Amino acid sequence: MRLPFLRLAPFLSVLTWGLITSAPTASAQAIQLHVDLTDAPRNIYHAKLSIPAKPGSMTLVFPEWIPGNHRPSGPIADLTGIHMEAAGKPLAWQRDEIDMYAFHVTVPEGAEMIEVSLDSITANTSAGGGGPAASSNLLDLNWNTVLLYPQGANSDAVEVAASITLPDEWKFGTALRSTKISNKNEVEFTPVSLTTLVDSPLIAGEHFRQIDLGVSLDRPHVMDLVADSDADLAMKPEDLAAYKKLVAETGALFGARHYRHYDFLYTLSDQVGGHGLEHHESNDSAGSERTLLDPDLHFIEADLLPHEFAHSWNGKYRRPAGLATANYQQPMIGNLLWVYEGLTDYLGDLLAERSGLTTPEQYREALANTAAMLDHRPGRTWRPLEDTACSVQILRMVGSQWSNWRRSLDYYPEGELIWLEVDSIIRQQTRGRRSLDNFLRNFEGGESGPPKVVRYTLDDVVHALNDVASYDWATLLGERVNSTGARAPLGGIEGHGWKLIYNEQPNLLEKAVEKRFKTANFAYSLGFTIDKDGKLADVIVGSPAYQSGIGPGMKLVAVNGQKWSPAVLRSALKAAQRTTQSIELLVENAQFYRTYSVNYHEGEKNPHLQRVDGQPDLLTKMLAPLTK
Ligand SMILES: [Zn+2]
Repeated sequence: MRLPFLRLAPFLSVLTWGLITSAPTASAQAIQLHVDLTDAPRNIYHAKLSIPAKPGSMTLVFPEWIPGNHRPSGPIADLTGIHMEAAGKPLAWQRDEIDMYAFHVTVPEGAEMIEVSLDSITANTSAGGGGPAASSNLLDLNWNTVLLYPQGANSDAVEVAASITLPDEWKFGTALRSTKISNKNEVEFTPVSLTTLVDSPLIAGEHFRQIDLGVSLDRPHVMDLVADSDADLAMKPEDLAAYKKLVAETGALFGARHYRHYDFLYTLSDQVGGHGLEHHESNDSAGSERTLLDPDLHFIEADLLPHEFAHSWNGKYRRPAGLATANYQQPMIGNLLWVYEGLTDYLGDLLAERSGLTTPEQYREALANTAAMLDHRPGRTWRPLEDTACSVQILRMVGSQWSNWRRSLDYYPEGELIWLEVDSIIRQQTRGRRSLDNFLRNFEGGESGPPKVVRYTLDDVVHALNDVASYDWATLLGERVNSTGARAPLGGIEGHGWKLIYNEQPNLLEKAVEKRFKTANFAYSLGFTIDKDGKLADVIVGSPAYQSGIGPGMKLVAVNGQKWSPAVLRSALKAAQRTTQSIELLVENAQFYRTYSVNYHEGEKNPHLQRVDGQPDLLTKMLAPLTK
């Protein structure tokens, strides 16, 4: 194994700048945690803990409510091989009969420590999602999946001295600072609070690369990449420049950083799932294996790292009061997720464009796609946006079927539209002197410093907006999140001098998605989206397909007697424009086949943004980078 010397460089520079004055040693009250990761390729991690204890009854808990997931997603079913002992004698433990995450044990007289060993089974779909994930070549370690801690403790007050053993020749990246790298693949980390540990995941792999993204506002930034092959790690010079610009743009936008150093942990793999999870001093993001090489994947995933990076300000530093909990057993309240995630969705797309990861045209095509999807969401007639945020616990894992009627995690994309509208109103109210950038700088910026959480309520958001531009923000935001109605809030697009239109031209984002993932979107014409195997992912209530009797989950087999493909369906749509005959769809519904006649003659409809004549183009102003 090549020692990850590069990991030490930022640590040394941090010391030089006095942000950490000495490498702290663990106190006697610290939990010692060692994680053996050498079995990662066969999808299991082994952990050993020494937990300070006092004689008598004690309850240890496994983290349940995971920050950034906003729900009780701690992978308790994957916690296995639990063994406890004290003073060399095995201890009988008992799981709580109601709370599956709690374990009761009696500590014998004279014992000051419980030794716990446990295993965590990794999933191959959860990289960047807060769970453990591994493949033959790489791993993602979220510390919350390999530890127990005393019930009722505040995670800020629990100290953990963590160490790992890596598979031979694997290198790692994390925002944690290592005190000792010895014996080839053993790494010890500077003791930290449980909060910081859980907030500092680690990725490792056989194919690893660290890229310096520069110092901005006195903070060093690096990107740690792991992939399934060295070829996947080849970053183009223009991407390197864009990621450096991303760092600079956040400095210019927020004017402060709430971390001591920052690591982009970026996994490129088709083996372990693709998610992103925000942290104060890092983000744990997983993209497709060829994201750096393939222009379509690059476009599709362009906002991932900007989104997760923006969370360091919006979500980690400024956090809705209901999501700022004392430990991982306390339930979270998601009602303000349209700020936490919605504003971050706005920022992710904006920062991707301002840093050059996307072009202005790509930004507009992605926005048109979002707006069209939300404008074809009949579920909004019964479910207000805030209910999608409060329901994150039950909506996060549901499939695509009937998502137009159920609604999904709409606080993400619809939040983006709301914040776009807020920006357009600020620009109009202040005659272009101010924008949402001013709100972001005031609300999310402040003083630079180490990670900390500053809670907010909706009132705080309204006050901060009024400091930037006087307006009845409480009424506007209240209507946007609490009312029901068929149409999406498109006022932000219109206020910026553009409008949503549909035509035959393919939407650039949809085109890239169709090419790479073999799905197809006919939502705005026939009224359905199709998975790569022909299965109808969703059928929009009230659409021509819906009226013919078709539903999601059925599988499209043939169009007008010809085997289905996106091209065949497009030809049929074109032909139907010149006739009154219905389009005949042969559909497989489990064991049965049936032909449905869809009476539709308006051709393909794909979403785009078009300039409104005579109105100023505020969108292009908004997209302009703040740095050269
Ligand atoms: Zn997010």
